[in-house]
Amino acid sequence: MANLRAHHFTPEQDEYRAAFREFLERELVPRQPAFDEAGIVDKELWRLAGKHNFLLPWADEQYGGLGLTDIRYEQVMTEELCRVYDSGFGLSLHSAIVAPYLDAYGTPEQKRRFLPPAVSGETILAIAITEPEAGSDVAGIRTTAVEHEDYWVLNGAKSFVSNGINADLFVVAAYTDPEQSHTLGLFLVESDTPGFSRGRKLDKMGLRAQDTAELFFDDAIVPKANMLGDRRDGFKAMMSMFAQERLVVAMVCAAGAMSALDTTVAYAKERKAFGRSIGQFQNTRFVLASLRTKVDAMHALVDRCTMAHVAGELTPQDAAEAKLFASEVLGEVVDECVQVFGGYGYMREYPIARMYVDARVQRIYAGTSEIMREIIGRSMEL
Ligand SMILES: Cc1cc2nc3c(=O)[nH]c(=O)nc-3n(C[C@H](O)[C@H](O)[C@H](O)COP(=O)(O)OP(=O)(O)OC[C@H]3O[C@@H](n4cnc5c(N)ncnc54)[C@H](O)[C@@H]3O)c2cc1C
Repeated sequence: MANLRAHHFTPEQDEYRAAFREFLERELVPRQPAFDEAGIVDKELWRLAGKHNFLLPWADEQYGGLGLTDIRYEQVMTEELCRVYDSGFGLSLHSAIVAPYLDAYGTPEQKRRFLPPAVSGETILAIAITEPEAGSDVAGIRTTAVEHEDYWVLNGAKSFVSNGINADLFVVAAYTDPEQSHTLGLFLVESDTPGFSRGRKLDKMGLRAQDTAELFFDDAIVPKANMLGDRRDGFKAMMSMFAQERLVVAMVCAAGAMSALDTTVAYAKERKAFGRSIGQFQNTRFVLASLRTKVDAMHALVDRCTMAHVAGELTPQDAAEAKLFASEVLGEVVDECVQVFGGYGYMREYPIARMYVDARVQRIYAGTSEIMREIIGRSMEL
């Protein structure tokens, strides 16, 4: 695969990768066990990432960013995070999924206020769309926002919010006119908002270091200045952002599969059975050869979609295909890899065990595989 991807990244992106790798080895790797144990990443790591220009690298220099708008910088970071078996530093969510809402729909004042602290890591971002009664069916959400003279009053509950405990600023979807079901709006809700509270940190099977939470809005008072975009265009805004979100998830899947395969190939060379390394059994070689082929095919699709994004040509169908294929293949890859590890693959101290459980959610969040098939199927005008 090295050959097929040889020209995918620029020398500048390779340099950025080297710096990020060094940062992760120094700042993340030693603390990983503690983060996994606590179920949350320390806020200090966010600030350090900001200090070293690893948050929102695409942001304009006037907001403290580097102006590196090419999404391959994000891809580099997902690959390096997977290389060290990260299980929850929600950096991509912050930089490449939530912050772009501010960039695309924020007023100049909102950008001036919220982008610089997001770049520096002082403000951690999250997005709250899903509700207990509405996941795939986004239009089914029940949170409402009622307009008053200077503020909006939000009522409702959100679930499964990534970065939900650490976050200081949430993009929240709510209906702005309870009488009209199509009037969804987006709000920037700050964590010290009166009437806003967080529920418990959810106990997930994987992504142990990722803080996922419930949120509650009980007559939460949100200033009018914190409405993001048009009060009726929230649905359209979300749809416009989903393609990038799905591409980023596909990148994470491809990076995760590559990392799982690399660690398994290394293990197959070392582990002995019947007087030889297990990699010398034809079955192991065939399994690993099939996985190599699948991972390379996954990268070919994801890299191609990445370049379509760079050219401004990525369609929602392209992104859905990349997300569907990459997350499904990742599931197959980690399953086969655990098998190659035998009993050790079932032990959490082996990264492959963590990768196996962490991979499962990729087929669920950012739109399930079934919803991806719906999107692709619809585009075929059957
Ligand atoms: C770890 C984690 C982190 C998350 N982070 C966030 C976050 O930061 N912010 C946020 O807003 N949300 C987040 N989510 C929510 C996530 O996006 C939803 O879980 C997901 O969209 C599915 O919604 P649901 O769980 O309600 O399942 P449901 O929508 O109830 O779906 C259940 C099953 O029915 C299937 N189904 C539903 N509709 C159809 C259909 N039309 N055709 C065929 N099959 C269908 C689904 O594919 C699925 O298999 C997160 C979830 C998890 C688990």
